[in-house]
Amino acid sequence: MTRYVYDFVEGNKDLKDLLGGKGANLAEMTRMGLPVPPGFTVTTDACREYLRTGTMPTGLLGEVEHHLRMVQNQIGKTFGDPEDPLLLSVRSGAKFSMPGMMETILDIGLSDTSVAGLGRQTGDERFAWDSYRRLIQMFGKTVFDVPGEAFDDELAAAGGIGADLSVAQLQDLVLAYKKVFHAHTGRDFPQASHEQLFLAIGAVFRSWNAERATLYRRQERIPQDLGTAVNVMAMVFGNRGEDSGTGVAFTRDPATGRRGVYGDYLRNAQGEDVVAGIRNTMSLAELATIDPASHRQLLSIMQRLEQRYRDLCDIEFTIENGKLWMLQTRVGKRTPAAAFVIAAQLVDEGTITLDEALQRVTGEQLAQLMFPSFDTAAAPEPLTTGVPASPGAAVGMIVFDSDAAAAATEPVILVRRETNPDDLPGMIAAQGILTSRGGKTSHAAVVARGMGKTCVCGAEQLVIDEDSVTVAGRTLHAGDVISLDGTTGKVYPGAVAVRPSRVVRYFEGELTAHGDPLLAAVERLMIHADHTARLAVHANADTGADAARARRFGATGVGLCRTEHMFLGDRRVLIERLILGDDGALAELLPLQRADFEELFTAMDGMPVTVRLIDPPLHEFLPPLEELTARVARAEALGQDPGRDGTLLTAVRRMHEQNPMLGLRGVRLGLVIPGLFAMQVRAIAEAAAAQVAAGGDPRPEIMVPLVGAVQELETVRAEAEAVLASVLGAPPIRIGTMIEVPRAALTAGQIAGAAEFFSFGTNDLTQMTWGFSRDDVEGAFFGRYLQLGIFAASPFETIDSDGVGELVRIAVERGRASRPGLTVGVCGEHGGDPASVRFFHDTGLDYVSCSPFRVPIARLEAGRAASAAAGSDSR
Ligand code: ADP
Ligand code: MG
Ligand code: MG
Repeated sequence: MTRYVYDFVEGNKDLKDLLGGKGANLAEMTRMGLPVPPGFTVTTDACREYLRTGTMPTGLLGEVEHHLRMVQNQIGKTFGDPEDPLLLSVRSGAKFSMPGMMETILDIGLSDTSVAGLGRQTGDERFAWDSYRRLIQMFGKTVFDVPGEAFDDELAAAGGIGADLSVAQLQDLVLAYKKVFHAHTGRDFPQASHEQLFLAIGAVFRSWNAERATLYRRQERIPQDLGTAVNVMAMVFGNRGEDSGTGVAFTRDPATGRRGVYGDYLRNAQGEDVVAGIRNTMSLAELATIDPASHRQLLSIMQRLEQRYRDLCDIEFTIENGKLWMLQTRVGKRTPAAAFVIAAQLVDEGTITLDEALQRVTGEQLAQLMFPSFDTAAAPEPLTTGVPASPGAAVGMIVFDSDAAAAATEPVILVRRETNPDDLPGMIAAQGILTSRGGKTSHAAVVARGMGKTCVCGAEQLVIDEDSVTVAGRTLHAGDVISLDGTTGKVYPGAVAVRPSRVVRYFEGELTAHGDPLLAAVERLMIHADHTARLAVHANADTGADAARARRFGATGVGLCRTEHMFLGDRRVLIERLILGDDGALAELLPLQRADFEELFTAMDGMPVTVRLIDPPLHEFLPPLEELTARVARAEALGQDPGRDGTLLTAVRRMHEQNPMLGLRGVRLGLVIPGLFAMQVRAIAEAAAAQVAAGGDPRPEIMVPLVGAVQELETVRAEAEAVLASVLGAPPIRIGTMIEVPRAALTAGQIAGAAEFFSFGTNDLTQMTWGFSRDDVEGAFFGRYLQLGIFAASPFETIDSDGVGELVRIAVERGRASRPGLTVGVCGEHGGDPASVRFFHDTGLDYVSCSPFRVPIARLEAGRAASAAAGSDSR
């Protein structure tokens, strides 16, 4: 038969699946001989069984009784004893910490008779009655869903929170609470202690499925089927007078990572009071002056916990009449900066290896450190705090509708109750987006993250009208300036000063790491990541300036140069002429392209530069059909000859496509417009030859986009090779292809016959595999899909490893089978996404290529992926 209950002395910290995080860590502390009140843990197995069947699993109650007897023996008190009752706490604790999401009930075991006994035993009737009223309140809310306000109203009527109520007043309050309880549940508050205990255990089980807990798990990507464990332990009391109290502490500063303990202590209080912020807390240093013995013991325990967990720990403790008790510990949450600093410190202290240190930080954390931030020292009080949905620091004037945002000439913040697909142009134009409704998966949040735009959503205190927003008694109008912190969710009035990221300035070479603990830690971990990584990191860069920046950020090549960007602006007219069949246009384009490439090759001297031949649909270079039609109509109405516009209109009409993304683009364009690709190949070869002549070391590669059949590639290749052969002094130039059409992935074996390298264009590959267009769907239904859990993350952000990823695996395998040693990389957005980098490492790619700004993130993740096997994965 399955065993459902484990005493604290039986477990250990590695049993989180079974005992939950809190239970496993209470067991570990008990094992270490630390002062933990005795208790036991009901397993997550029991919870899952309960949630499946709706009843307590067979044998569970008997096991609980058995373990309860052991606790009674240790303490020398009996549960339910009218004279000297043992009181218990019943605490939720899942594998992953879900702060404040589930329930805990304190003081279980009190009744109308034992409350008097407790008063006599402790000589403190106020304490006894206060404990009893807390129990009825917590029990009513948790077990029977009695609305908390019903109790709060009674408490307020009696004199309010924190007021020093007399025994008589507390007794009246208990009576009032019992009435509230009866009114909402139709039954009396249970007097039998065992009934209280079992009802409480069931309620904690059920709290796993509470709406807020379910939502939290979806956002944090915690599986929904784990269940929670339940910890039952003897109560200790911090509310027994001035020599008692309760506190929380960290073994290092979780904000900066600075060495040295850090914490808050509240005298004469129970745990919930600290969180409620009812009274002012004192620092641990102050505790040292009022209770030096407990303070000393606490410090030595914290040191032992750090050694045991080999990481920053946070703890909850209580002092009862001068005796210290440990109530909780875990590896503590920390800011991104602290994560880097602490990982490096622990290496210095000889506690962990560099490989392990890499597992203690994430690319996501590095990304956070690379955003500009507000100078919070100079910031006013925030107006409100919403959900931090997309990081960054945005300052601008309030606008309430998207058209106004799109039309604005100055920086604006789009303020809406919520957004919908019609708001897209406004969202693109705005510096940041603020909404009063919706969480991390709302439309605003999803779209903003996709665009890398600052967003705070779900700021529920905002009352948004047509042309004003009211919050905390202040009304702001369109045109008023506000500042949004997408990292903390804070919204400030006025313009808060923005500081560029120190980490970015360090990567840029403007700051050195010397004397700066954060930068020194980043430097150290980046060096180790580069040293460990198997994946190389290249950048997507189209200009010399971008490439130079990518190189400063540590890129070792350009994985994607999009040549179409070189055809915009003044050069557009050359493309129009090309389409009208004017061959002279190619001759004029050639030197322009050559100059572009020379700049790029110079910036990346000695490193590979993969140049993609022109890719997008031609219509992007032509005037829109409507505009052209209008121009021609106007000319004709005036009796004028529309001239070139007329010819252009005919051409644009001829080439008009219903689905341009699935139309004439990429290699298809190269095959249809004679000489276009040849011109580009010549420009590449001549630029390289010129650089060789100048003593440089250019390493261009030519990449053909949107290939679906090897014959397409063979045709382009033959033309390109002829051109390359004709350019004197050019270095050898490899020709490869993008794999971005599903057919290319499936026929990768054939395609590799004509390709010296592959680069996965995972943006297009995702669109074409799912059959939806990125530009059309992200705002339209992705929010809903994320909410429903159809997507764990947007497939344009994190590679869909089951579907799109399978095509990648197939292509790598078939490509390399036909051409051993084939170089394979990725140049879609996914190349800079932490989870995707891990996938590409596992799939055996040679490099990832991403935007220059994401290069350090990809480098770190490439190192983490390679060292994951070496160090123990602690996250
Ligand atoms: P959470 O997971 O939300 O932090 P906990 O289970 O840690 O909830 O309980 C909240 C608080 O209740 C604790 O911080 C502690 O102060 C108090 N508490 C829990 N168990 C006991 C106990 N046995 N004795 C005294 N206080 C307790
Ligand atoms: Mg806790
Ligand atoms: Mg593409």
